[in-house]
Amino acid sequence: MQRILSGIQPSGQLHIGNYFGMMEPMLRHMASSELYVFIANLHAMTSVQDKERLAQGTLEAAANFLALGLDPERCIFWVQSDVPEVCELAWLLSVVTPMGLLERCHSYKDKVAKKIPASHGLFAYPVLMAADILLYQPHLVPVGRDQKQHIEVARDIAGSFNSTFGETFMLPDGEINASTAIVPGLDGQKMSKSYDNTIPIFADEKTLRKRVMLIQTDATPVAEPKNPDTCNLYALLKLFAAPERLQEIHDLYMHGGAAYGYLKQELFELINARFAPARERKKELLANPEHIRDLLRQGAEKAREKGARTLALARERVGQGY
Ligand code: ATP
Ligand code: MG
Repeated sequence: MQRILSGIQPSGQLHIGNYFGMMEPMLRHMASSELYVFIANLHAMTSVQDKERLAQGTLEAAANFLALGLDPERCIFWVQSDVPEVCELAWLLSVVTPMGLLERCHSYKDKVAKKIPASHGLFAYPVLMAADILLYQPHLVPVGRDQKQHIEVARDIAGSFNSTFGETFMLPDGEINASTAIVPGLDGQKMSKSYDNTIPIFADEKTLRKRVMLIQTDATPVAEPKNPDTCNLYALLKLFAAPERLQEIHDLYMHGGAAYGYLKQELFELINARFAPARERKKELLANPEHIRDLLRQGAEKAREKGARTLALARERVGQGY
């Protein structure tokens, strides 16, 4: 059976980019693979440095996954810091990680350009991410396009460790779905929790509508033809509209008649209908946080068992068994 792993940071509100880029593929894999899903609270500390926000964000991120259908009986679901072995492995990996490899990472440069503090943690993020992955030896890691380079870095680091210390880690493959690789945000850039350009899927109806209305569009008059392929709003409609309706919308763009305000209302209704049931389930789940904590603790135990075995092997390989 294929082992599949992915994680999400509790760094802000879950958005439709996270959903299509990572969660939906993970939920699909649940039926037929050995699934590992974690809440990356250590990674989130690169942008969230507030005790209450991190703790509450972690619970909410877990509730999001559960509300959307993740079944803890059919996967291993835990919080990153509950398996501290990951930090030790990150160190063993960091000594075989060339500086140049990290200096080339786009995500670091993009986040610093967006004024996220350029800490060592943000710079070394891909090394911890490599440890997240390699500790569990998965075959496949479903992610959005923004994480493609980080997966390649994880493979490079694994290769570098293997050639220095002997065969230890399996090289994982990324899984990036072409149609949902980069979901655009309100401003057309990658939708990102830390860029304030998101459509949050668990926002209440009123907020959701407001966010959808903020999607940036051009000033072409309604009657004139427009290019759907360069339109942010169309890119989002593509994710939600039924195929026949999408074809009609496409025709309106091509031949004139696409009214942005009307289409935004339609998009809002589609998103709302899709996620309203999960919104209710999330409320119920958060009413009993102790239950969520229990599930996560049980998940951490299972993850730790697997992780400890890999770490023991890595320790032995580097010469810690003196
Ligand atoms: P941050 O801004 O704090 O980095 P984020 O919105 O990028 O947050 P992450 O927790 O870093 O979210 O990423 C979780 C998963 O969601 C990753 O697999 C990532 O590739 C995917 N993802 C994030 N944004 C998008 C997007 N706009 N389109 C497709 N996938 C995305
Ligand atoms: Mg990110």
